[in-house]
Amino acid sequence: MSSVNDALENARFTYEHHMNTCRQCHADATPCAVAKHLLRLYNLARRDAMRAAGPEAPTV
Ligand SMILES: [Zn+2]
Repeated sequence: MSSVNDALENARFTYEHHMNTCRQCHADATPCAVAKHLLRLYNLARRDAMRAAGPEAPTV
């Protein structure tokens, strides 16, 4: 049941960890290709989580 949230947490952690450690993302104003990829995975996981939670769930 919590596998969707686990995936969401994992995707967010991976993305945030990259943003905190990637030199290219810090040097550039735009995220690097890896960051874009991780952000896409994060958005997909978030969409899945919201769909699993249903329309009554808060969007936070
Ligand atoms: Zn990066």
